Amino acid sequence: MNGTPWALALHGGAGTILRSKLSVEEESRFRDGLAEALQAGTQVLQKGGAAVEAVECTVIALEENPLFNAGRGSVLTTEANVEMDAAIMDGRNLEAGAVIGLNTVRNPVSLARMVMERNDHVVLAGQGAEVFARLCALESKPTDWFVTERRRNQLEEAKKAQTVSLDHNDGKYGTVGAVARDTGGNLAAATSTGGMTNKACGRVGDAPLIGAGTYASNKGCAVSATGHGEIFIRLTVARDIAAMVEYLGLSLEEAVRRKVHAELPALQGAGGLIAVGAEGAPVLSFNTPGMYRASQAAGESEKIAIFDD
Ligand code: ASP
Repeated sequence: MNGTPWALALHGGAGTILRSKLSVEEESRFRDGLAEALQAGTQVLQKGGAAVEAVECTVIALEENPLFNAGRGSVLTTEANVEMDAAIMDGRNLEAGAVIGLNTVRNPVSLARMVMERNDHVVLAGQGAEVFARLCALESKPTDWFVTERRRNQLEEAKKAQTVSLDHNDGKYGTVGAVARDTGGNLAAATSTGGMTNKACGRVGDAPLIGAGTYASNKGCAVSATGHGEIFIRLTVARDIAAMVEYLGLSLEEAVRRKVHAELPALQGAGGLIAVGAEGAPVLSFNTPGMYRASQAAGESEKIAIFDD
């Protein structure tokens, strides 16, 4: 395929993910899930498809996998419900769509894309978002379908410990996201999450907030983040990285390094992110012991990793 070399990266959450805590079987299930999602996106890009299509397909594959904290298998609120958030952004024209507080839409990222493409608004929340999903004929499921036994147990533990925990702090699961560059040189980003275990009803993290957990501009880069959402919101992490690239002319690596290894830790902001720019390989970076992640660039083999090695 002619044109710009395509590239794709994805994450399945960052956190206290230690080799000692993950059995061989669990590790291989995660690796399979990451590989499957990577292929869903690379198939689009290899055929010359759009970056925005690639990030949606990648994130759908992760939402469908209950190992990850998005779609079915999302973590639970303090009232044992799911409240799922997602966002998508097209770097070609800065169009964006986001949805907040869903509890019946099977693939929140697809609803975010519908908001971007078929709605005059950028963000829809709660009941209004659910109604729009029906209008778009997106698949819905009863709320119980999203709730897994593991998540109920996690919620009980968080309640006993009186914590609001990041999924990754028990070393198991995480928010998902993808960034892509297509052969037309266009960038896109998407993020989808159930948020944090034992979160207050109505709490919104960084994932669906354009510029915090999700951002894409062809002039800068595409970013999808995972971590302690409140800190990512305060640092407008995703937009700031794109702005550092666009206005300061920093390399993507340097812009990411400043955010992930200097500004976030200064506010105790644990987490990581994936980013891709107008050229070169994607950058995957985190300040936690691990991050579920995978990437591939045109002409290169796929990379799948979990721990800090
Ligand atoms: N960033 C997400 C949130 O705060 C959580 C995560 O990345 O797992 O909702």
